Amino acid sequence: MLEYLKIWFLEENPMFKLNYNQLVDTINKKWTTKKCPMCGQNNWTVDDEIQTPIKVGEKKDVQIGGKFFPIVAVTCLNCGNVVFVNPLVIEAVEDTEKDE
Ligand SMILES: [Zn+2]
Repeated sequence: MLEYLKIWFLEENPMFKLNYNQLVDTINKKWTTKKCPMCGQNNWTVDDEIQTPIKVGEKKDVQIGGKFFPIVAVTCLNCGNVVFVNPLVIEAVEDTEKDE
């Protein structure tokens, strides 16, 4: 199942790739404060991969498939607070189809 998902993701969505520089630029422009809401410091690291939460069923089972909700983790290196940013909302996803 995981192998299938990997193949589907690569073959059907070759253009879905994080534009890391765009993500960092947008965060720097739009975050009116860079201070961590938990500890007050400005010491963040931005992950370079898009991830998605996994749905949990009523029987506490993990369910592969369903809705894809893209998130990139931004972690405070002082206290460990994690903020999730949706790269689609801030257009930080590369669309290579436009180049063709
Ligand atoms: Zn913090």
